[in-house]
Amino acid sequence: MCCEQRGWAPWDLPDEFDRSPPIGIPGPDYGRLHAPTDSVIVFKRDWLSGPPVLVTVLYADPIPLNDDHLKICPDCELRYEDNGDERCPWCAED
Ligand SMILES: [Zn+2]
Repeated sequence: MCCEQRGWAPWDLPDEFDRSPPIGIPGPDYGRLHAPTDSVIVFKRDWLSGPPVLVTVLYADPIPLNDDHLKICPDCELRYEDNGDERCPWCAED
């Protein structure tokens, strides 16, 4: 049984990564919040501007996040980083 038959939307990981805003997480790795699934994408970089290397994906709920900089979209109620775009990245999908 494939993901779609189970009702799981397959992730386009690079795309979802790009839309997920950076957040602070405990420990040495970096995090991004994938708001639609309330998940944290944990990754590291070998050097400051090096390519991200995925470590794991965790549920955000039990993790103390540094996400005060995020706003809540009035339309979809998901958290996002306001970069001056007209729509939040989760609404802008269609
Ligand atoms: Zn939105």
